[in-house]
Amino acid sequence: MDTNEIATPEPQLVLHPVARRGRFVPRNIYELRLDELEGWCHDRGEATYRARQLYRGVYQQLATGYDEIQVLPKRLRDALAEDVPFAALTPIHEISTDDGETLKVLYQTADGQTLETVLMFYSDRATVCVSCQVGCAVGCSFCATGLMGLQRNLSAGEMVAQVVDMARRARDKGRPLTNLVMMGMGEPFHNYDNVMKMVAILHDPMGMGFGARRITISTSGVVPFIDKLATEPWQVNLAVSIHAGDDELRSELVPLNQRWPLAELIGAIRRYIKITGRRVSFEYAMLNGVNTRDDDARQLARRLRGLLCHVNLIPYNPTPAYPYERPGKDVIERFAAILRDAGIPATVRYSRGVEIAAACGQLHVEHAATLRAGADSASGSLDD
Ligand code: SAH
Ligand code: SF4
Repeated sequence: MDTNEIATPEPQLVLHPVARRGRFVPRNIYELRLDELEGWCHDRGEATYRARQLYRGVYQQLATGYDEIQVLPKRLRDALAEDVPFAALTPIHEISTDDGETLKVLYQTADGQTLETVLMFYSDRATVCVSCQVGCAVGCSFCATGLMGLQRNLSAGEMVAQVVDMARRARDKGRPLTNLVMMGMGEPFHNYDNVMKMVAILHDPMGMGFGARRITISTSGVVPFIDKLATEPWQVNLAVSIHAGDDELRSELVPLNQRWPLAELIGAIRRYIKITGRRVSFEYAMLNGVNTRDDDARQLARRLRGLLCHVNLIPYNPTPAYPYERPGKDVIERFAAILRDAGIPATVRYSRGVEIAAACGQLHVEHAATLRAGADSASGSLDD
């Protein structure tokens, strides 16, 4: 497929390798696949097994700097520190809720952008929710991230760094990080190559060995990349934000529905299931009175009939800038029952961290507002 034909927004700045002293060096250690690190070692006359030692230090030991990877000779650690900055992100604000079961961290990038990542502990797993862009160009009518427009794509290293930092925080609580969802800020299929590079780096058995089946990529419906994902070697899960079974309503909620309407979207998902044999999940943000009527449920059921799928109903997490409301439990359960009666498996996902604005982009937006109000970014409290 010719991806040049696909209208994806231009990132304003892509943090890829930058030229320094005539050589290309990456912005941070998390940017590099193992084979690229081996190349780095080779170019400097170092044995390539050093790259594997380094990878283990970064992804298994979860070191926070080269000096913690004592198995490497000092000479090599110094050369690395000179060439490849270790850290990609600086945590600047943290909020935890649900009795410490949900943690949200606001990070700052090297160029001063902010993004957010959420860590959620469940009885049987710990899940990190990763951002792939600062802002988002899709502009869904109810989403805090959409309000910002697209600032820029995140690099693979900036995504990997979110996962590693959260893996460290999980380890501090005696828990392994088991799952990853691309459900933070941004549209993963508008930053496809970097997201796939992130998967490759995390998946490497010499590093974290993060199973692709434990990774879920959520898209608002960028159809060509659903087809592309179907051809990837990675067995990642696909989630599609559908939010309506009717084109007119969906185009209001998710503007890119005008470009790829439901028939095309469902067609691509059908092809994806045929090729991969994998179940697709649908996300449906429940906006009271907007997409929560019985007819909305029946229309959705008609669209999804016969698909190997599952629907996750997400009661709306209120964002001050928008007029939408979260429906009551009775409305939610009634909607779910209509889907189930039509043979569509449906689960209600009461989102974590409502009181810390855990829906994607909300903390960032509040942080920006706090800064505008002249508060101190380091100490300003967002949760009062
Ligand atoms: N950009 C991707 C990932 C977004 S976050 C996508 O749109 O699929 C994961 C889900 O949360 C999406 O379905 C998104 O539409 C939904 N969402 C965003 N803001 C929300 C809010 N305030 N309340 C409930 N769901 C929300
Ligand atoms: Fe972007 Fe997803 Fe928010 Fe829509 S819901 S604006 S695609 S981040």
